[in-house]
Amino acid sequence: MTLNAKYAPDNIFAKILRGDIPTVKVYEDDRILSFMDAFPQARGHTLVIPKVAACNLFDIASDDLRNLIDHTRRIATAVRDGLLPDGIRIAQFNGEAAGQTVFHLHFHIIPAFTGNPIQAHGGQMADLGDLRELADKIKAKL
Ligand code: 5GP
Repeated sequence: MTLNAKYAPDNIFAKILRGDIPTVKVYEDDRILSFMDAFPQARGHTLVIPKVAACNLFDIASDDLRNLIDHTRRIATAVRDGLLPDGIRIAQFNGEAAGQTVFHLHFHIIPAFTGNPIQAHGGQMADLGDLRELADKIKAKL
């Protein structure tokens, strides 16, 4: 997928938004969904997506982007207070060449724990019980 590719409504996150694929949710309102990454780069790896159809950062209206970033910070704050990491990486990829694999705009919130390096992109699938436990800790701080 190139930077100016057309939005594909069959991408995984569009399916999650439609409820076609189950996910462990952290937060939802009429404009935003946040859920646990199923192949986390660290425990507590959380994603934040807009509900509007946008492939990447260049494909979204400014007001929707501001709302997405504000919510990303709000959810990252709950990750910070719920999981007490030593650092937090916020990441966002545009285009396959940059590492994007799901072509619906999203921000990664990846907690970093000293002595436990953040894993590579696209690793092992997480345990569902663990994801639910982590999501509960984050939700408790929202
Ligand atoms: P990207 O590579 O596009 O920046 O990030 C896509 C993210 O979506 C990856 O971190 C990947 O682990 C995650 N992911 C891929 N498929 C699924 C899925 O079916 N459910 C969830 N919750 N996350 C997924």
